[in-house]
Amino acid sequence: MRNFSENHEWLSINTATVRKSLGVDLPLPKIIEACVERGIVAISPWRDQVAAAGLPVISKLVKNHGLKLSGYCRGGMFPAADAAGMEAAYLDNRKAVDEACELNAACLVLVVGGLPGALAGRAVHKDIALSRAQVTDGIAQLLEYAKTCGMPLAIEPLHPMYAADRACINTLEHALDVCDALDPDQTGALGVAVDMYHVWWDPKLQSQIQRAGQKRLLAFHVCDWLTPTTDLLNDRGMMGDGVIDIPKIRGWVEAEGFSGFSEVEIFSTGNWWQRDHKEVLDTCIARHQTAV
Ligand code: ZN
Repeated sequence: MRNFSENHEWLSINTATVRKSLGVDLPLPKIIEACVERGIVAISPWRDQVAAAGLPVISKLVKNHGLKLSGYCRGGMFPAADAAGMEAAYLDNRKAVDEACELNAACLVLVVGGLPGALAGRAVHKDIALSRAQVTDGIAQLLEYAKTCGMPLAIEPLHPMYAADRACINTLEHALDVCDALDPDQTGALGVAVDMYHVWWDPKLQSQIQRAGQKRLLAFHVCDWLTPTTDLLNDRGMMGDGVIDIPKIRGWVEAEGFSGFSEVEIFSTGNWWQRDHKEVLDTCIARHQTAV
């Protein structure tokens, strides 16, 4: 297992972690500047942040600073109420693949979607099996395109509490079943993003990480689970402040040969987004060395 205690060469910042500074939106170029100042060599930006600054601007910043992208957030949201909606999702996902390629991301992270309409507050049906079938079909279709540009797709299983509105793939086992169905030869084109927040509780976590192996382990996201959690989406904890044994789980993925970045991904309306982003980044560096 790699020693993280001496430096932060394997730290990546998911830019949602500092999407606000002192409660105010922080533009992606400012986030990049603060990361570069601290010797942080990798980020994982969100599409909305890239779009706000302009893809050419961000692409140039990334190249000029020699930054790496541990991933690109995000594609997915495949299920739709009708064929037109499915087609729109496909086209948007193709665009996400193109953006990920332009930024030379390690993978495009997929949050696959749940019941159509649920995220907006009103699901158009209750058939989660249908959504899951549409997800598999959507990934299959996107995979064909992503392969032509060499962009790996990383399915991120989300905690079951998000099954209705964000992702109906809820365990690592389920994500790997889809991988095995669509990419049986383990070509490296399709794998998983293992996010502590979503999978830490799973009694099959270690065995499914072993099943995934190096070929399928495309991204490793860290934060912590607070007790109590006051908001199921936006109250993620800083590593070391909660109940997840992160070093143990990192040991499991590294035992399979994973050698990528530890990507800090914290959504925190009430705490970290209220602080100065420089303090947040300094804390990420410190905790990466002591709690990851
Ligand atoms: Zn994640």
